[in-house]
Amino acid sequence: MSPNQETQPPEKIYLPRTSESETLKKIRHTASHVMAMAVQKLFPKAQVTIGPWIENGFYYDFDSPEPFSDKDLKAIQKEMVKIINRKLPVIREEVSREEAQKRIEAINEPYKLEILADIKQEPITIYHLGEEWWDLCAGPHLENTREINPKAIELESVAGAYWRGDETKAQLQRIYATAWETPEQLAEHKRRKEEALRRDHRKLGKELGLFVFSDSVGPGLPLWTPKGTLLRSILEDFLKKEQLKRGYLPVVSPHIARVDLFKTSGHWQKYKEDMFPLMAEDEEAKAIEQGFVLKPMNCPFHIQIYKSELRSYRELPMRLAEFGTVYRYEKSGELGGLTRVRGFTVDDSHLFVTPEQLDQEFLNVVDLILTVFRSLQLKNFKARLSFRDPASDKYIGGDEVWDKAEGAIRRAVQQLGMDHFEGIGEAAFYGPKLDFIFSDALDREWQLGTVQVDYNLPERFDLEYVAEDGARKRPVMIHRAPFGSLERLIGILIEEYAGDFPLWLAPVQIRLLPVGDLQLDFTKEVAAKMVALGIRAEVDLSGDRLGKLIRNAEKDKIPVMAVVGAKEVETNSLSIRTRASGELGTIPVNIVLDKLEYAIANFENLYIDVADVTSQQAPDVTEAAFQQVPNVSDAKSEQVQPVTLPVYSFKSLVYIASAIFYLVAAWAIWLWLYNGS
Ligand SMILES: [Zn+2]
Ligand SMILES: [Zn+2]
Repeated sequence: MSPNQETQPPEKIYLPRTSESETLKKIRHTASHVMAMAVQKLFPKAQVTIGPWIENGFYYDFDSPEPFSDKDLKAIQKEMVKIINRKLPVIREEVSREEAQKRIEAINEPYKLEILADIKQEPITIYHLGEEWWDLCAGPHLENTREINPKAIELESVAGAYWRGDETKAQLQRIYATAWETPEQLAEHKRRKEEALRRDHRKLGKELGLFVFSDSVGPGLPLWTPKGTLLRSILEDFLKKEQLKRGYLPVVSPHIARVDLFKTSGHWQKYKEDMFPLMAEDEEAKAIEQGFVLKPMNCPFHIQIYKSELRSYRELPMRLAEFGTVYRYEKSGELGGLTRVRGFTVDDSHLFVTPEQLDQEFLNVVDLILTVFRSLQLKNFKARLSFRDPASDKYIGGDEVWDKAEGAIRRAVQQLGMDHFEGIGEAAFYGPKLDFIFSDALDREWQLGTVQVDYNLPERFDLEYVAEDGARKRPVMIHRAPFGSLERLIGILIEEYAGDFPLWLAPVQIRLLPVGDLQLDFTKEVAAKMVALGIRAEVDLSGDRLGKLIRNAEKDKIPVMAVVGAKEVETNSLSIRTRASGELGTIPVNIVLDKLEYAIANFENLYIDVADVTSQQAPDVTEAAFQQVPNVSDAKSEQVQPVTLPVYSFKSLVYIASAIFYLVAAWAIWLWLYNGS
């Protein structure tokens, strides 16, 4: 099942997800049986446990006395190919529980007995590969082993695992493997895996010096280095500026609060599992659940600010915004890099609006989110309407308010004509959401920005405003966060850009590389000019040779490099080289400054049209003909590396010609006189 196959450009190979493809489920399920059979053929002492499919392949856990080596994996894969080529039929058999038990005991597989005990329904289904091997399984499978393409399977790695994920139980060997419909898909999968490794934000974050983790601080709690902090504040400043333009009001709230605040909001009842434990003064306070908690969300704080005065309809919409750090108790097994952390900063805002203002405010928020995505150069996203699952009891509030809130989101999406889908059961416990799901360069999906419509918290906190007719009315709340969280966003951006931040976002935008000490003063002077203009410029002071300076700047993924040699000092220019478009040539300093400022302000890459440089330089050239000769770039397009040519005026040529004429004449006269004497 690959619906996008026709619409993709031919060079891009579409990789279906296991969860979406029945074919892949069957292939991987069957391949995992084939793998188990191969392992038991080669290692008769190995006992089988479970072998489910996963998103990009499958695995199987074995209890084996010796860990499998890379050589073993190769041998197992070879054995699998033999089994596949034998075209063994996959036969389903139904047996009674007693019969299943008898057969398992006959082959002495204790794990299977435990698995059997877990299967509640009867009859028990057994799947055979030919007549030699069988396993307890619910399916689905292919008809025979030959339906697996032997060139589209690969054993990937071995890892330790515990039986049932329990450290006190037996240690098992887990073989990770993958299987696809075609060898082309397998090749594409391998390419993406390599690319994912290259882009891994944990690796790149370290190499680029953005953040670190410390065991002493704890898992899931990143520490931001100066460069990473700069990156955060660039993102913050960008959004704060955009929000001020749109009438948001900044607020700040503390990191802890009385637990009662979260009892009123419903967090304590519905969200306790994800919160850090209560800080109670003593056992007695603990017993009656009194004390402080770390905030898991900012909403109740902003509500208190709203509530601190009686509000009039004239003050609405009131948009309170804060980069608020929240704490959630993620299980340590789920933590990894920046995409899942225990403390993170949400670009949070709560809008208190009248019911009449709701639709327009919602659209305004979506517009802000789209502006943010555009600036970040994120293009591939779709909107998920995250609604409640009516069958679940994890939500607060009645049907009527949920219907109203979900209706508002649906209307907005229709009005905007946005590409969207529904996610039932994905709502927050207090209201439905519109989530923006972003697909990155490797086709992985991430949730970024979110907007939520909430009638429940205004009810629970008894929020009011005085309406035009003097009556007290209930406002509606919009919760929204275009970034989602700074940590997660930065993790995703690092991988999406592969570490190459757009010019406006890069912590260091330009690095100046003096060729030698003689150029140091000039270089520092130019850098100071840039810094004064708000450009994040730095000078490489290492004193290394030029080749190394350039290599280091490339390694640090600095968007713009400026080489300064004797010629550049003499002509007050810089040799510019960018990560995005290579060499731009030798450009006068004032033009570099102008173009940098323009590109940064417009979220663009640095672009310098050589024609600009020539036209701005032209008057100087004629005047200064006999003094310094400036280098003027002369190139037809920015693709061509500019050729630098000295340009002489007609006047200067006349001077030169006359000088030569006089010299030759003097020489001739001298010769004539000498010979004549
Ligand atoms: Zn199976
Ligand atoms: Zn909120």
